[in-house]
Amino acid sequence: MTGVIIMTGPRSKFLKVKCGDCGNIQTIFDRTNIRISCTVCGATMATPKGGKAEIKGEVLGRVDTDLEQGG
Ligand SMILES: [Zn+2]
Repeated sequence: MTGVIIMTGPRSKFLKVKCGDCGNIQTIFDRTNIRISCTVCGATMATPKGGKAEIKGEVLGRVDTDLEQGG
């Protein structure tokens, strides 16, 4: 039996990525199996590569899901 165990933990993270086309800032999980498009203009923001997301836009930083910062 072959399979991939997907674990959520410190090795996975969310990234803030800015669309190179329209400047929309979107939160993208750094592991994906699907292509991620900008919700505003539809440009490709990340493509799957070996189970990881290859970011096409500008990475602004990491989103810490433990610390939610309001406003
Ligand atoms: Zn866009």
